[in-house]
Amino acid sequence: MSKSLMPTAENPWLLSVNHLKEWDKCRKQFYYKTVLKQRWVSDDGNFELGKSVHALMDYAARDLPTAHLLEQVTPQIRESFLALNQHPISQEAILASEFGFHIPFMPDRFPHVYLVGRMDRVIQQNDTLSIIDWKTGTAVPHDYATAWQTRLYLYALEQLKQQLGHADLPLSFIYVDVRLNRQQRVNTYVTEANEGYQQETGTLLIQRIEAILNEQSFTLPRECPDKYCPYGGVCGINEPDVAQLPLFSLPTVSVLGDDEKPEALDPFDAF
Ligand code: SF4
Repeated sequence: MSKSLMPTAENPWLLSVNHLKEWDKCRKQFYYKTVLKQRWVSDDGNFELGKSVHALMDYAARDLPTAHLLEQVTPQIRESFLALNQHPISQEAILASEFGFHIPFMPDRFPHVYLVGRMDRVIQQNDTLSIIDWKTGTAVPHDYATAWQTRLYLYALEQLKQQLGHADLPLSFIYVDVRLNRQQRVNTYVTEANEGYQQETGTLLIQRIEAILNEQSFTLPRECPDKYCPYGGVCGINEPDVAQLPLFSLPTVSVLGDDEKPEALDPFDAF
């Protein structure tokens, strides 16, 4: 039988943007990653560019020296950092760098659910508080104005802006995307958040959290949406078509569209 997500005081749900994206992509992947907390070995080399550039931008925000580090990193890391750090947006007043948040979300309705994340930078620009998100390899979401990261971070900053001393300023979210192979190396994508936008995000979060907490079956999608997903060998999506199976091994579930597999066959249920 599937486990479900049941946050408690001792084991709260720290809801990150990755959880929301996983859920939208594939409930089975959400089940393995977030409910069962199964981790797969990944190649850290895939993240070297992003991690290094983010670290350098943080050092620059804190006025720490970076020249000695730039001598040691790859040309791609060095050029990406310099392109971002020399962009006009990096000259704006910095209020916070690597600004973490961990805030309760409607504790009366959802005790033990917290919104968590970390903003790359918060700046004040033209009487607006702006969250900056550096993009060094992964693409800016095509629906960036309504993407979960944009919504969740703006919603969190609305709760925290008083702590930054600017309770009255409006908010925006800016993806700052660097690509060395483009003529214009740095592009920005801005979303402004008014009251209606924040209310809409609150409503969407309530709906999504309720759906996730009530989920019992975590069914497979019709088609795998993520060819790099590490659970492809165990989730059941790659099982042979039933028409190719010998008669004596016909599955007990319907072949006409019910793609949920018998729970006992789920290899991670043993953990
Ligand atoms: S391999 Fe595809 S279908 Fe299976 S869990 Fe991952 S994303 Fe979902």
